[in-house]
Amino acid sequence: MDAEIIAVGSELLTPHRLDTNSLYLTEKLNGIGIEVRCKSVVGDDRDSLAAVLRAALSRSRLIIMTGGLGPTEDDVSREVVAEVLARPLREVEDIRRKIEERYARLVRPMPANNLRQALVPEGAEWLDNPKGTAPGLWIEEKGSILILLPGPPRELEALFESQCLPRLARLGGGERIRSRVYKVVGLPESEVDQRLAPLYRPYRNPSTTILATPGAVEVHLRARAASDAEAEALLNELGDKIELALGDHIYSTGGETLEEVVGMYLVMKRMTVATAESCTGGLLSERLTRVPGSSNFFLGGAVCYSNELKTRLAGVPRQLIEMHGAVSQPVAQAMAEGIRARTGASLGVGITGIAGPGGGSPEKPVGMVFVALAREPSTQVREFRFPGDRERIRHWASQAALEMIRREVRH
Ligand code: ATP
Ligand code: MG
Repeated sequence: MDAEIIAVGSELLTPHRLDTNSLYLTEKLNGIGIEVRCKSVVGDDRDSLAAVLRAALSRSRLIIMTGGLGPTEDDVSREVVAEVLARPLREVEDIRRKIEERYARLVRPMPANNLRQALVPEGAEWLDNPKGTAPGLWIEEKGSILILLPGPPRELEALFESQCLPRLARLGGGERIRSRVYKVVGLPESEVDQRLAPLYRPYRNPSTTILATPGAVEVHLRARAASDAEAEALLNELGDKIELALGDHIYSTGGETLEEVVGMYLVMKRMTVATAESCTGGLLSERLTRVPGSSNFFLGGAVCYSNELKTRLAGVPRQLIEMHGAVSQPVAQAMAEGIRARTGASLGVGITGIAGPGGGSPEKPVGMVFVALAREPSTQVREFRFPGDRERIRHWASQAALEMIRREVRH
């Protein structure tokens, strides 16, 4: 069985609110073997909603609609469903009483429009909403199931999980969907696809999607089978080939971020790291400290933006900066070695570069970044030319530093 989701709410069509309910619903549906084939976002407009609902009824056996069930005039889902299905709305005594009791408990007068929520299209089953007043609705119509859920995410989640999911799981035919994400660093998307396409092309199950993200590429596999174990076996069969083709460019298969993986290796090796950052302004430290337990491997860092502070905080000799410029290989090296020596960390990282948009020159263009990694007795320095704007260049620089640490501590 495939599903279709309709998210109702004019705010979801503005730049200020995102439809997150469908993401939640998709995850839960996938867990019981139901795929989402189509999603729509519709404003609080009767005609548009009626058109989308008619189309959905013509093609989908399971339709889940979220939002627009509240008490106000702009909440039109209930009325539109009644109209499209040609089922009159009837007041349900039990819902009315529940709403009245809720207001009595809150010791607040009940605005009369709340009783709109007690109206239910004929033949619909109502689903108790433990976290709010608007009940959900479960309607069966010519072989399709139409479920209406309240918009507020915490209400929707509580209601869906307790009253819809178990029921849908029984109808779903018992299929399971399992997925796996390989995260890849140091290879462009095109190269990843070139290596993998001959491997995944023969497989329709698992399905493969390759996604480029800033500084990494993700390979998503989804397998469906009668049981979790069989789905896992399908993932393993193709997954083993993918691991062979991408080798140590894969840094995680369990959803971990690059900084989490780096942190894990550092803890395993009982090693520590300290940073001296210029153009990234502390971004590398910020990413390292996102990892819970980072105090076990991250000693701290200096944001040494000015030449003066490169000398004072990281011990970079003044003459070195005068001779080579702040953005240079020797200065990056001296920053990494200086911060390592001053903190006693096992690893010191130095980052200096030109994030732009100003400050570039023909010899030192915007995007030029030097990253140094000091570990007794030697220091490696790499020069990069990152594309994109200031934000991307800074992100890439922190990504490159993390990847250098990962390669250093992985074995
Ligand atoms: P209420 O009784 O609160 O009016 P409702 O069913 O009418 O419930 P809406 O009015 O559409 O729901 O939305 C209520 C809140 O839930 C709003 O803050 C809205 O932004 C949020 N919301 C609605 N739909 C979604 C969605 N698809 N994803 C995330 N948030 C949503
Ligand atoms: Mg509302």
